[in-house]
Amino acid sequence: MMKQLRDIDFAVSPFIVIWEITQACDLACRHCRAEAIDWHDPRELTTEQGLDLIDQVHSMGAQIMVLTGGDPAKRSDIFELIRHGADLGLRMATIPAATEKLTPELIKKLKTSGLSQIALSLDGPNAEVHDTFRGVPGAFDLTMKGAQYIREEGIPFQINTTFSEYNLEYFDEIAELVKSLGVVFWEVFFLVPMGRGKLLKQMSARQYEKLFEKLYNVSKEVDFIVKITEAQHYRRYVIERERENKSLEKGSWEVELPDRMTRDFGPGGSIGHAPKGVNAGNGYVFISHIGDIYPSGFLPLTTGNMRQDSLADVYRDHEVFRLLRNADSLLGKCGLCEYRTVCGGSRSRAYAMTDNVMAPEPFCVYNPRKKSASK
Ligand code: SF4
Repeated sequence: MMKQLRDIDFAVSPFIVIWEITQACDLACRHCRAEAIDWHDPRELTTEQGLDLIDQVHSMGAQIMVLTGGDPAKRSDIFELIRHGADLGLRMATIPAATEKLTPELIKKLKTSGLSQIALSLDGPNAEVHDTFRGVPGAFDLTMKGAQYIREEGIPFQINTTFSEYNLEYFDEIAELVKSLGVVFWEVFFLVPMGRGKLLKQMSARQYEKLFEKLYNVSKEVDFIVKITEAQHYRRYVIERERENKSLEKGSWEVELPDRMTRDFGPGGSIGHAPKGVNAGNGYVFISHIGDIYPSGFLPLTTGNMRQDSLADVYRDHEVFRLLRNADSLLGKCGLCEYRTVCGGSRSRAYAMTDNVMAPEPFCVYNPRKKSASK
């Protein structure tokens, strides 16, 4: 029986655990956090170590586990790993790369292994834009074919899109394409300048705000979830909009944020939204392909390793995780801001751009004037 989402105490249990099962991948995406490689690192966690990791994730009370990469389909034990997690009651998800390996047989096998949700990446509305971003000709066509196979198998389908200056101008066309693909979930990533993504031009704070507006408007029109990653201040934007629209009373914080699980997509449900704002180390933990434990895949602060540490001990007690969960330790304007517990800014971007994990979010237009009580 799945625990009620709203019951989770993020100091004890992460809502979502991401495990990068391999860095091997045939694509060369321009924003790749992992700087993926085309070979298997011999230090990857073994199947046994992976099964033990899944057991630990389950015993911590986490609900969602995402097997990412690289290209997770490059590991032949992916089916066994998914089966193990699904049998324990975890909602297992994965994000295969759009390559020749993405076949109807692969999708079918993932489904019969107990997969709850599958995501494909889409960063442009056509082959020209998407393939340039992904670094391999043909990636767009393979993504469209993969989407068709997933729809045919009936697995809840998610699109992931990373926005930066590069593809911002294509937002409307990308949104139209996503609407046509039969998704249950659109996860929109705001670029964190790390890995190969350091070379991409960042958006300005004003461009973030403009994109928030577009995403908010889309979220009101569609019947799928629009989830924002690494732009926690979207929560502040939504609260402000809902207050303007009078759908939220002045002084109330009980807005139904888009990053809550609000919809049910049938048996097994969908990989839904967290009951409250997730941030690096706060409802969220990342395990690298060699077992290193990080607060986020976008926040390369090593806090332990699965080969010798207990995931629960690191997540609950490591000083970095504890610091990240303490909104009153935020610096600069984030530390003053009344939205600091529902937002807190992207800790990953703050670290990538300043080397200080508690520094203010670099791309937020909001300017709190004096220290306010947080909500
Ligand atoms: S100032 Fe910081 S905490 Fe406040 S809304 Fe902006 S990013 Fe969020």
